[in-house]
Amino acid sequence: MVITGTTRLLGVIGDPIAHSLSPVMHNAALAELGIDAVYVAFPVASGGLEAAIAGFAATGVKGFSVTIPHKQSIVPLLTELTVEAQAVGAVNTVWRTERGWAGTNTDVAGFIAPLKARLDWSGKTALVLGNGGAARAVVAGCGQLGFAAVEVVGRNLEKLTNFEQSWANSPLHQSLTIHGWDSLSARLPNADLLVNTTPIGMHTTAKQAPLTAQDLDLLPDHALVYDLIYTPRPTHLLALAAQRGLSVIDGLEMLVQQGATALEIWLQRPAPVATMRQALIDWLGTTSA
Ligand code: NAP
Repeated sequence: MVITGTTRLLGVIGDPIAHSLSPVMHNAALAELGIDAVYVAFPVASGGLEAAIAGFAATGVKGFSVTIPHKQSIVPLLTELTVEAQAVGAVNTVWRTERGWAGTNTDVAGFIAPLKARLDWSGKTALVLGNGGAARAVVAGCGQLGFAAVEVVGRNLEKLTNFEQSWANSPLHQSLTIHGWDSLSARLPNADLLVNTTPIGMHTTAKQAPLTAQDLDLLPDHALVYDLIYTPRPTHLLALAAQRGLSVIDGLEMLVQQGATALEIWLQRPAPVATMRQALIDWLGTTSA
């Protein structure tokens, strides 16, 4: 596309940001739709957040994505927050309104998109490994899907307790329980859905999995294993689960769908999901991202 005087700006703020996959996915979508806009990565350090978004407001930026370290610190700078962002306590998508900046968390929609197509999850049990930022979107998503029980397993009791307490004012609190890693094998036989939100299986740990093949044997035969990691494909966990005959989902669809949901907010029209998915698959196939 030709960048001209009318080209509008979208982007992502974070630090570090150079390895973000969002520009690949969003620029493919903008080109497909023939929209006169470009999406770029802005390195914004912790201390620069307020100045950055004031600059965006002054220069007519329509919206932007937010990643580490700003997902929580941007919340007080926004004039509107969706129910999803309030539930998760973090924002990954911001857009301009007449009153100021509004924010939401599209990781919730991204997480549930591939699950919605599978089956009715109401009354079922989800077992979530890890209690960091992504686990918050997973718990909120499980709430939207109607899971009867969401069991979160973590390695650090203090962080795990804080995680549980942070849902105290939410209707999700009554279905949420926390468990130390040493009680994992006792939880596996009850799980209809197992979600890995830990980074075990990424980069230097690509040959590792948060569970052993013996652990996976404890899952019911109908259980679905969902790894939020999107590279490598498959992760070691998903390879083991597939060997065991279980259904699997990797993190690529969540990445695509959270981006598509954000684009639809900014453009107010349907996102070209297939183009976004293919752009990521092509990019991941040619890099070691
Ligand atoms: P995070 O906030 O750092 O949380 C990571 C969690 O994993 C923490 O609870 C941490 O435990 C736990 N953990 C880390 N190493 C562990 C280990 N060796 N054993 C047991 N637990 C361990 O990270 P995040 O933002 O939630 O992201 C987590 C993963 O999800 C990453 O791989 C990320 O790429 C992926 N993700 C994917 C998408 C997508 O669109 N597909 C979106 C978001 C995130 P402690 O609390 O004890 O440190």
